[in-house]
Amino acid sequence: MSKHVMERRRKRKPMWPLLLLAVIAAVFAVWALVSALRGTLGNTDPDAPPAQSDEQQPGPDEPKTEDQLAAERQALLDEAALLAKGYFYDEAIAALQGAGELQNAETDAELARIQGLKDSLVKYEGQLYHVFFHSLIVYPELAFDDKGHPAEGYNMWMTTVSEFKAMLPLFLENDFVLYDITEMMELDENGMAQRKDIYLPEGKKPLVISIDDVSYYDYMLPDGFAQRLVINEAGDVVTEVKAPDGTVSQTYDGDVMPIVDQFVKEHPEFSYRGAKGIVAPTGYQGAFGYRITDPDWFTEAEFKQLCDDVKAIAARLRETGWQIGCHSYTHNSFWRGDMTLAEVKDDLDRWKSLMEPYVGETNILITPFGGRFDVGSDVYDYIVNELGFNIICPVGSGMPTSYEQGSMMQDRLNLDGYTMIKHPERVSKFFFDPTPIIDPARPPLD
Ligand SMILES: [Zn+2]
Repeated sequence: MSKHVMERRRKRKPMWPLLLLAVIAAVFAVWALVSALRGTLGNTDPDAPPAQSDEQQPGPDEPKTEDQLAAERQALLDEAALLAKGYFYDEAIAALQGAGELQNAETDAELARIQGLKDSLVKYEGQLYHVFFHSLIVYPELAFDDKGHPAEGYNMWMTTVSEFKAMLPLFLENDFVLYDITEMMELDENGMAQRKDIYLPEGKKPLVISIDDVSYYDYMLPDGFAQRLVINEAGDVVTEVKAPDGTVSQTYDGDVMPIVDQFVKEHPEFSYRGAKGIVAPTGYQGAFGYRITDPDWFTEAEFKQLCDDVKAIAARLRETGWQIGCHSYTHNSFWRGDMTLAEVKDDLDRWKSLMEPYVGETNILITPFGGRFDVGSDVYDYIVNELGFNIICPVGSGMPTSYEQGSMMQDRLNLDGYTMIKHPERVSKFFFDPTPIIDPARPPLD
């Protein structure tokens, strides 16, 4: 009898746990006796509980039927194929190598096929690609009604849900595959950044997606954007969206993240080993729609809940292939472009101390307004060497990547109304012609 049960007994708790134990013990004794008589007990894990007796299913001591083996084998083959589709070759190979009694010519053939896929990866020597978005416009009729925030700003710098959904199959058709930006750089023994080797199937090209300002600012809330991120009952990070009629619902298509998650589920070949992209909140209005930098607005319990929610969302995003990046604390003070060290320090130190405890550590800095810092300047030195932001992403339509001193700099192309309408050639040069996918709900852009 366990100590636990004894304690329960002393506390005069109900007797049913003891009775249950007795029944289990009796069932086990009978099962052990039958097994011993058949001479199979030695093959059975003695710690395993007896299986529920069921006339339809053989017990653990009986060999599996051919049908059972076939079903388990098919499940293994399906699992291996899915892993391989998402470039988890080693994991797929390990699963098949551990097939045990399921091994047959079919699993051998699948093992050989996946080993062949792994062996045919080639070192990718070409350009790295990085596109970025802001939170998507869910209801263009609200964003472009010119009430509240001017429609022109949204028309220039934002992308609509329908446009974004139309882009993903085009990236896939054109052989792009989502790739983890932190796997594009490594430091040598002297702390100098260099390009890390990338191996992809022949013809595939690595793509990074980032989303700026994932804070769901107050000014955007009446304009048809998601209100915040939430984790739904299925454990997925989804968007909470308010329809024009005021009803609030959780959706899988209110911003870039859940849309990419769903697309990768349907097309695992679009993501290299589960990579998704970079989610980059600022700090001055919190993160993901939670005002975690305004503790004075809340009771202690409310504030703790907000912080816990942000922690959980950030953790879930990371688990599902997303990186969190820093997009500065104040954002707009970077507009000037010539901030002093003291100003940069004041801003980024605030992000580090007020945001990072909740969204988690990051070495990725997504600069506001595409700002850049001179390599070797005191500001650069502080950002890279003191704060550890050694992946810095400004804006530049050619998307060059450079490795300088201790950091990687990777320019990004904004796939928004401005680029698609005014400079479609910037998109078609690398990706696809954006003109057919421009949302007809957009007003003219002068
Ligand atoms: Zn921004």
